[in-house]
Amino acid sequence: MVWTAISTLTTPVTWRHVWLFALLAALAVAQSEVTRRIERQRRILSNGPHVNMTSVWLLPGGLLLPAHLVAALGVVLYVYMALRSWQGTRPAQPHRVVANATTMILSGVTAGLVGEFLPVGDGVTIVCAAAIAFFVVNTVLTGLGLYLADPGSATAESCLGGMDDNLLELSTLCVGGLLVMVLQNEPLLSVLVILPLYVLQRSMLVKRLEELATTDQKTQLLNAATWQDGAQREISRAEREGGGFGALMIDLDHFKRINDTYGHLAGDDVLKAVAAAVKAETRAHDLVGRFGGEEFVALLPATSKEDAIVTAERIRRRVSELVIDTRTNEGETVAIERQTASIGVASYPLDGSSVEEVMASADAAVYAAKHGGRNRVVGSVATLAAVA
Ligand code: GH3
Ligand code: MG
Ligand code: MG
Repeated sequence: MVWTAISTLTTPVTWRHVWLFALLAALAVAQSEVTRRIERQRRILSNGPHVNMTSVWLLPGGLLLPAHLVAALGVVLYVYMALRSWQGTRPAQPHRVVANATTMILSGVTAGLVGEFLPVGDGVTIVCAAAIAFFVVNTVLTGLGLYLADPGSATAESCLGGMDDNLLELSTLCVGGLLVMVLQNEPLLSVLVILPLYVLQRSMLVKRLEELATTDQKTQLLNAATWQDGAQREISRAEREGGGFGALMIDLDHFKRINDTYGHLAGDDVLKAVAAAVKAETRAHDLVGRFGGEEFVALLPATSKEDAIVTAERIRRRVSELVIDTRTNEGETVAIERQTASIGVASYPLDGSSVEEVMASADAAVYAAKHGGRNRVVGSVATLAAVA
């Protein structure tokens, strides 16, 4: 803000600035129009804040315009998006829109300062350093804002974004960097960025749709259909290569009581915590899914039944040690503990020659675990039972 004010007083606006500002604003508005439907669908389908493409305009703006025109460009962009692209989606919270716009403007202004005061003359170094400065300021300010909005449930990924978010932001900045060069030499050629940006944005929508189609939204584990597909592929691979796998069926004990005592939302928090525990105790390439309700499944490739039982026992212990901070329907905070799980373990090819047969064996083992008193692991052959 201070810099914008100083800049307003000290930097004379030339006709070239006005022309570049008008061109960048027109391109930004045109791009928003072209991708309006995609942006709206992405907003409807996204579960949190997501990266937009404004850096592609604000990086060149930062490098080629005085700070107050960068601020004006940011305002034009965000007002336009709020009025046109976000209609009919979840309502934009004004303070968030202002915070996002300010973050983008400050990132652009910082990029401009780096460009101005960097003690080197060549364009390549200046654009790269400015893009890095933009990325760092944007990431830090956005991360800080998201952290402060909800410190309790903030994680590194929720504040700093995932790999895909950051890659998208970097690709946007790459296009923005090229745009600086184009704007300085053949400004009208900058129209060529609109189509690549459209495709980039559409690919993010497709990715989001893919995630929704394959993931259980409550726990972020694989959904039942996707897990079955993966399991089928493992069977085909095991047949080809002569290997096998272990399979776990995990059913929470007396889960209905959690819902009855604390309410469904608390129950959902328990499901999320258990899902995270199962994920944490398995390897990255194990297939972990939610089968339905309070039942989880895990397929452990190239794992014998004995080793799968060891993993199951680790999961059982970890679940029983969870302390889950949540709220009742009345808004009272509670810490739910001593939630336990019964786990049935089966393996391919020992317990069946299809996914259905193996899972039926694991299910029968769960049944035996429930009858044996719950909070235990049972292998599908009774003699292998590892009682907790
Ligand atoms: P058992 O030890 O025999 O497995 O008892 P249980 O209470 O865990 O099993 P039961 O099958 O009787 O109840 C499962 C409960 O899971 C009933 C249902 O309300 C609850 N449930 C299913 N899906 C969800 C969900 O997505 N969220 C919440 N909060 N509860 C769910
Ligand atoms: Mg059940
Ligand atoms: Mg149950």
